Amino acid sequence: MDRTLFDADHDAFRQTFRQFVDREIKPHQERWRDQGQVDREAWRKAGAQGFLCPWLDEKYGGAGADFLCSMIVMEELARAYESGFAMSLHSDIIVPYIHSFGNEEQKQRWLPGCASGEIVGAIAMTEPGTGSDLAAVTTSAVRDGDDWVINGSKTFISNGQLCDLVIVVAKTDPNPENAHKGISLFVVEAGRNGFTKGRRLQKMGMASQDTSELFFEDCRVPAANMIGIEGGGFLMLMQKLQQERLCVAIGGAAAAEQVLEDTIAYTKERKAFGKPISKFQNTQFKLVECLAKVEVGRAYIDKVVAGHISGKYLVKECSIAKFWITDMAQEVIDTCLQFFGGYGYMLEYPVTRAFMDSRVQRIYAGANEIMKVIVAKQLGL
Ligand SMILES: Cc1cc2nc3c(=O)[nH]c(=O)nc-3n(C[C@H](O)[C@H](O)[C@H](O)COP(=O)(O)OP(=O)(O)OC[C@H]3O[C@@H](n4cnc5c(N)ncnc54)[C@H](O)[C@@H]3O)c2cc1C
Repeated sequence: MDRTLFDADHDAFRQTFRQFVDREIKPHQERWRDQGQVDREAWRKAGAQGFLCPWLDEKYGGAGADFLCSMIVMEELARAYESGFAMSLHSDIIVPYIHSFGNEEQKQRWLPGCASGEIVGAIAMTEPGTGSDLAAVTTSAVRDGDDWVINGSKTFISNGQLCDLVIVVAKTDPNPENAHKGISLFVVEAGRNGFTKGRRLQKMGMASQDTSELFFEDCRVPAANMIGIEGGGFLMLMQKLQQERLCVAIGGAAAAEQVLEDTIAYTKERKAFGKPISKFQNTQFKLVECLAKVEVGRAYIDKVVAGHISGKYLVKECSIAKFWITDMAQEVIDTCLQFFGGYGYMLEYPVTRAFMDSRVQRIYAGANEIMKVIVAKQLGL
């Protein structure tokens, strides 16, 4: 299906990024999965070539391009079956908090490092006791002179081991009646006293992603590390979570497309009962159904992205994209995996890993049920 989102500059960017993926990512993927994280050096190389925060203004070290370049990065990583190199989380979810809500001093302090890959970012919302119900976080930040003192535990934090900077969601007002208005955002740099990185968690998929526990014990940060205003954290999160949901949907759509393409090729090669398995009517019907889902999803996501980059605040559409595309991607990948037979159960096959990687997309960035809660609210239900 023809896509109208991209111009010639975007196509050139995609070509350059594909070369980067072939040269700097593909040769290392197996080792990264074995070690449970991407090489730190890969982040610097990505930054040096302008692939981190490509949308960021040049005055902060970015390439001054747009979100579509970020979309290209997400799509090409998914097409390379690289689920652990969380460039999009860094560039399109974490850095925007600093860029949109940070003051000039904070932007000067952190953004150039984020663009160059010297600083890897993480965001710590989820806690062992709460994820979906963000207003119920218990990590606290108490003012003490010119500092804030943070205490609490976070879990499932992507880039948890590699991060040099983490945006911590904490309660600055413990009064439960002010649950939403009591949340603030703090930047905590790695190496601060009281901030420790816990276990790198063993996961079903995303083997090269260093998802971790983080602990804050009397961790002091200067008041100058608060992003935005005290008590404004929940509103900032709500505003930026639209793009986070969109990013997950973009990755899901591209993963489904790639798996389908590879499956079509495989079924033409693999023979059973004397003929390619693509010649069985069941194979044809299933793959055509997958293609229909992928193409419908592609049309929707591209339309939502077009609206998003034009500045529209698309709560309903981003939520629908997140749950529908990630559900669809998992169905498509599961259907495709079946055509690989026993090989579809072997870890050395990309389709097997795509199956395991895709499962989390229905859970993180807001569980798909939460997306439906949001849409229901939009409908006034
Ligand atoms: C690999 C991975 C990476 C992650 N990265 C990060 C990260 O970088 N930063 C971060 O802060 N978090 C991260 N998370 C956490 C993730 O966002 C949460 O796991 C997710 O929001 C769900 O929260 P929870 O696990 O506490 O589930 P819960 O909130 O306990 O919910 C469990 C289930 O209950 C159901 N449910 C809950 N509420 C409702 C409701 N209102 N209506 C209907 N059903 C409901 C849903 O089915 C939901 O899946 C990551 C998680 C994973 C697995």
